[in-house]
Amino acid sequence: MAYIPKTGRTNMHVLVVEDDAVLADGLSRALGSHGMQVEVVGNGAQADLLLQRVTTVEVVLLDIGLPGIDGFEVVRRLRARGASVPVLLLTARDAIEDRVRGLEQGADDYLVKPFATAELVARIKALARRHTPRPAALSLGDLSLDTCTRRARVGDQAIELSVREWAVLEYLLQHAARVVSKQQIIDAILPWGDDLSLNAVEVYISRLRLKLADAGVTIRTIRGFGYLLELAA
Ligand code: CA
Repeated sequence: MAYIPKTGRTNMHVLVVEDDAVLADGLSRALGSHGMQVEVVGNGAQADLLLQRVTTVEVVLLDIGLPGIDGFEVVRRLRARGASVPVLLLTARDAIEDRVRGLEQGADDYLVKPFATAELVARIKALARRHTPRPAALSLGDLSLDTCTRRARVGDQAIELSVREWAVLEYLLQHAARVVSKQQIIDAILPWGDDLSLNAVEVYISRLRLKLADAGVTIRTIRGFGYLLELAA
C-alpha cells in the first residue's frame, strides 16, 4: 500500500471568494494551518478577473451570495472559458434549488454553512485529487500555446495575440479537428465582452489566419456551421 502523508501535499493553491470578512479570515487561517496557500477575494468581479489571470489556482471555494456578480455567474463564466478548476460552493441558503443551480452551472460540490473545518479540508483535498489539470501546452503543427505563460509560438517564433485572439485560438486548439460554431466561440470568450457579434468572431478569425500563415495549420470555414482548425494540407 502506498504511503499517503497525513497532511497531503502542502502549498495547494486555494482561492476563497467570500464577502463576509470574518468568515473569509477564518477560512484563510484554517486552510493555511493545513498547509494550503490561500488567496481571498471579497466579490465576484475580482474572482472572475483573478481566475482569468491566475492559472495556478487548484480549488475555488465560492460563496453564492456575493455583491455584484454572484457565485453562480462566477462559475458560469469560468466554465464558459473552458477552465476545469474544481469549484466548491459555500452557501448559507439551505435551499436545494441553489445547490442544483450551482451544480448545473458547473460547480463540483457544495457545503452548507456552517460547516466543520475538518469536512471542508477533506472536501478540498478530494476535489484536488479528482481534478486533472488542463494541459500546460496546446499544440498543432508548428503552432503552440503555453497556457501558463500565455505565450504563442509558431516554431521558434513568438507571435503576438490580443486577449481575444488568444481566447479564440485557445478554444479552437482545445477543439482541434472538430467543427465549432461562432456561437460556441462567443460563449467561450464572453468574459471579455458581453456584446460580441458573430461578425466580430469573423474579424478575429481573419486576423488569426494572417498570424498563423506559417504555422502549418488552417482555420477552415465550414459554411453554415462555423470553423475547423486542422493541419494544413
Ligand atoms: Ca455572502
